[in-house]
Amino acid sequence: MNPELLNQLPQVLFQIGKAIGSDESLSTTLVRISELVTELCGAAACSVMLANPEEKTLLGKAAFGLRRPDFTTVSFRYGEGIAGRVAESGESVLVDDVANDPRFASHGDSSHIRSLACVPLLHRDTVVGVLTVTTPEVSFFTSSSLELLALIANTIALDIENIRLRRLAQTDSLTGAYNRQYLDQCLPDMVVDAHTSNQPLCVAMFDVDHFKRVNDEHGHGVGDLVLAEISRRLDEASRSNDVLVRYGGEEFLLLLPGANLATAAGIADRMRMQLAAEALTLPTNDEGDTVSLSLRISAGVAELGVAEGHEQLFTRADQALYAAKANGRNRVEVAKAP
Ligand code: GH3
Ligand code: MG
Ligand code: MG
Repeated sequence: MNPELLNQLPQVLFQIGKAIGSDESLSTTLVRISELVTELCGAAACSVMLANPEEKTLLGKAAFGLRRPDFTTVSFRYGEGIAGRVAESGESVLVDDVANDPRFASHGDSSHIRSLACVPLLHRDTVVGVLTVTTPEVSFFTSSSLELLALIANTIALDIENIRLRRLAQTDSLTGAYNRQYLDQCLPDMVVDAHTSNQPLCVAMFDVDHFKRVNDEHGHGVGDLVLAEISRRLDEASRSNDVLVRYGGEEFLLLLPGANLATAAGIADRMRMQLAAEALTLPTNDEGDTVSLSLRISAGVAELGVAEGHEQLFTRADQALYAAKANGRNRVEVAKAP
């Protein structure tokens, strides 16, 4: 590797630190890092794939200089192609000419790739992703390129892991919905945003009807599966900016920024009807036996009033939910304006 390029290393590491410390999303940060690595190595392109160690797959997360814009849809199984082998073994790989390397698995048009270097992103001996640089020249990269890449990989692996852990700390492990801690973090900001931008903010509070019966008749294990499936369905039916929170045992809360009371009530009612329309089929043991359960939910919906805080908003949504229960369950009630 050109010693002049090595001289740029401190400056590039500084720029990477700046990208990591910015408020940008993980994807944007990784695209910037890919750009810096491309320049530092004198490569044509750099890409980052992130690992799903449970499923043993890699998914394209960010790239710079690649010809395909849909890189984030590229996925490799562990062991598949160069990246998959690096993920599986945790060892770096240098390829002088992909045309003569049977390990290379092309995804799309790779006529502009001849040599490449691929290193694992390791955190505490676990592969969290891989970093790859490519060029159209044969035998371009050297063992010192690999060392350089490994150094950069170490820097960003920790950051990627921190972002993953932050997400884990915000999530309810049973249902995958956000937890109360995350709600406490994001809610004050959402309320301030709604007031300052003069945009509506609604909250829908859901409670599963007669959920105790599920536990009593089918056991706590089936009850848990029911909660996970209800959460999945609520999430699927929500809009991309909505925030689904597991508020309590079998209570969920949906924050709907930008939705007025009529819209939010409509969304909540659609969720209620969808759940009632399709029974949940769940396994009761490992032998393939299943049980089919028909479930209902009730909801209370409230819209943030002018100068109202989130405590009062929640109290009104809770009162509307109580009314839905009192009025026969499997229904949505809206709260009166404060
Ligand atoms: P209602 O229609 O009035 O809401 O009746 P309900 O039976 O749903 O209400 P209740 O609040 O009496 O019961 C809620 C039940 O939810 C009781 C509790 O055992 C169960 N529950 C809470 N958290 C969990 C959980 O994590 N897993 C399981 N399986 N059950 C839970
Ligand atoms: Mg309850
Ligand atoms: Mg209930």
